[in-house]
Amino acid sequence: MSFWWRPLSFLLGLSLLASLLAMGKSAGTGWMLFAAGLLVYLLYHLRQLARLTARLASEDRPTLSSDGLWGDVYYRLEKLLRARQSLQQKIAADLEQMLEATRSLPDGVVILDQDNRIVWLNDAATRLLGLSTKRDLGQFVLYLLRNSRFGEWLGAEDLSRTLTLESPTSREHSLSLQIVPLPRQQKMLVARDITELTRVEAMRRDFVANVSHELRTPVTVILGFLEAFEDMPDALDFQKHIPLMREQSERIRRLVDDLLALAKLESEPDTKDEAVDVPALVRRLADEAETLSQGKLQISLSLESRARLIGNGQELYSALANLVTNAVRYTPAGGQIGLRWGTAENGCACFTVTDTGEGIEAQHLPRLTERFYRVDRGRSRATGGTGLGLAIVKHVLQRHQARLKIESTLGKGSAFSAHFPAERVIPAS
Ligand code: ADP
Repeated sequence: MSFWWRPLSFLLGLSLLASLLAMGKSAGTGWMLFAAGLLVYLLYHLRQLARLTARLASEDRPTLSSDGLWGDVYYRLEKLLRARQSLQQKIAADLEQMLEATRSLPDGVVILDQDNRIVWLNDAATRLLGLSTKRDLGQFVLYLLRNSRFGEWLGAEDLSRTLTLESPTSREHSLSLQIVPLPRQQKMLVARDITELTRVEAMRRDFVANVSHELRTPVTVILGFLEAFEDMPDALDFQKHIPLMREQSERIRRLVDDLLALAKLESEPDTKDEAVDVPALVRRLADEAETLSQGKLQISLSLESRARLIGNGQELYSALANLVTNAVRYTPAGGQIGLRWGTAENGCACFTVTDTGEGIEAQHLPRLTERFYRVDRGRSRATGGTGLGLAIVKHVLQRHQARLKIESTLGKGSAFSAHFPAERVIPAS
């Protein structure tokens, strides 16, 4: 009703005025006034309609306002435009945020149109696939990633298959490629760097193969004896083989112990810290070295500091004991072993074992802490080694933010030292 009230009252007023004029002057004058009034009214509305058309054609124009009938229309229109504008801004901001997130994804993302032309790509796609936003947008991806397996895979019907490919930017990197279908026949090509995954998988395979191999020899020896015993009528014949069987069983036990130690280190994320009396620990290690060497080596001890360490006593014992045992095992009779515990001016602490043993060629040094890596397999076995000692040392030291340093000269001897950061050291005072 409010809409009709204004135009009707105007027309009514105009008719009344025109009638009064017709009665007072002449009918012609009355009609003229009526016609003139209608003309003005029409022009007024046409003008408002022109403003409205202009405003709708471009949203940059100033906002419209007016009184009366058009005021109401403009008010509702401006409200709608404002709502639409803020919705657009929100959608644009959301889109930008999504693009920003996708842009910084660690996986390479390339959006392709229905003809496999590049529509969009993120930073990781540049790094992993060697594509460039500036150069390659709008290009056919098959022209850029020239690989027959990639071509076949991209053209295949079944989009659920993944493809493993060498990265075009670096031969050492492997990529796993996947296609995700998008609306409007577009597709998303996702490239994931699986180099580390492949390396870990290869390590796991090697590890299982190594463990199986290590266990197989002693178990075969023991089984061989047991089979022979079945045919042996004399118990004395049986007895003389027991030491070898015991030795092989010991070997299995040591191996299982070391594997369990490693598994425990890997399964517990943090060390259970306490104040470890390292000087007392080093003294104990020197005594044990004395016993182990059976008087064939000269053991010296140098405790330059009474500093203690914040760490796990059991783990630290096992790591440092491994270093000392190795020094004894790889040093021929008459040699010297030195144990030293000291602190540096910067607050760090260091445990060093030196020996005058056989030494290690420089090429082996970087690989010594790998599981089952041995310079001389026969020597390691003969002295009861499992090939896991230094791997345990490395693990324990890493858990204490410490570093293992190995210096060695072939034929002269070696120095293995564990460097602990100042934050782990409790000074003597
Ligand atoms: P293993 O049980 O074979 O001793 P480790 O992991 O303790 O295994 O050591 C790996 C390899 O490092 C050994 O097989 C040996 O070749 C070498 N090695 C370790 N310590 C010494 C040392 N003090 N002198 C010479 N070689 C050593």
